[in-house]
Amino acid sequence: MQKTDRIFSGMRPTGRLHIGNYLGALQNWVELQKEYECIYSAVDLHAITTIASSDDIEAIQPNIKDMVLDWLAAGVDPERSIIFVQSHVPEVTMLYTLLGMVTPLGWLMRVPTFKEKVRQMDATEESVNYGLVGYPVLQTADIILYKADTVPVGEDQLPHLELAREIVRRFNNKFGETFPEPKAKLTESPLILGLDGQQKMSKSLDNDIEIAATEEVTTSRIVTAFTDPQRVRRDIPGRPEVCNVYSLHKIFTPNQLKSIYSECTLAERGCVDCKKQLSNGVNQFFGEMRDRRDKYALKPKLVDEILSDGARRAGIIARETIGEVREKMGLSLL
Ligand code: ADP
Repeated sequence: MQKTDRIFSGMRPTGRLHIGNYLGALQNWVELQKEYECIYSAVDLHAITTIASSDDIEAIQPNIKDMVLDWLAAGVDPERSIIFVQSHVPEVTMLYTLLGMVTPLGWLMRVPTFKEKVRQMDATEESVNYGLVGYPVLQTADIILYKADTVPVGEDQLPHLELAREIVRRFNNKFGETFPEPKAKLTESPLILGLDGQQKMSKSLDNDIEIAATEEVTTSRIVTAFTDPQRVRRDIPGRPEVCNVYSLHKIFTPNQLKSIYSECTLAERGCVDCKKQLSNGVNQFFGEMRDRRDKYALKPKLVDEILSDGARRAGIIARETIGEVREKMGLSLL
């Protein structure tokens, strides 16, 4: 298939990624490279919308490096795809400003994730920074600055993409056909629960397993995983269907699922052994990626070069778009 469609996707630089990030997003990024022209961005400006302290600011640069190492380890290929840091192509901020001129405030206030963020921050809609309200406009600018027509999203992100499409329609109506309406590429990504077996795997909940963890750390994290709460003794039969360790076996030990299931339900295996087997599966699954990550980590200059080459390539597209936008909006330089 010829590469025609262009994908844009971004991740906030939160540092080392966990296996939920891999299975829920990164794995898909790697696959998409086969069919699409892909642009992947570490969206550092987005990270700043919820910055709480100077520690958070200090963490941005190391977090970018750690996250990009995971991307490269997973197989995001800088030869095929553009990998760059959002703020390294500052044209996005100009487009963000200009899109703000065609985006009714009501649209932004109605975005479900905005209301949720306000609640999480224990704030009010009036007290939060304008940047938080404008978040979806910046996201739209990210996508359309590169004339991306396809965006991989999970169901929960659909309202943002719909908003992006509405902004594009409004812009095109007012100033003439300029941007393609980005369409969603719905990805059926599994929601990975954390080691607590209850909540979404997340770094902030400390219930995660990092892709880049050592084999020992992986094993010691998995030992702490919650299993079937009713199985308080080894001789009580387990219920794999309510056990998150079993859910993870489906991904990491798929060939031995039948025996795992029957041994658990017949109380022929204990949770400790079961977790050991899962640790082996996880370590095997990520082994090659971890080796690749280690190699890149030894060459920080190479990673910097990859990011600066990405920004250079993204910048070429961005400047062309901004030139066109300026002209259409009566902002020509001469
Ligand atoms: P974002 O960068 O979109 O603000 P996160 O840093 O939380 O969000 O996660 C990056 C990506 O990993 C997102 O696409 C998100 O859906 C996915 N992801 C995060 N946690 C999980 C999880 N526990 N299970 C599946 N996917 C996840």
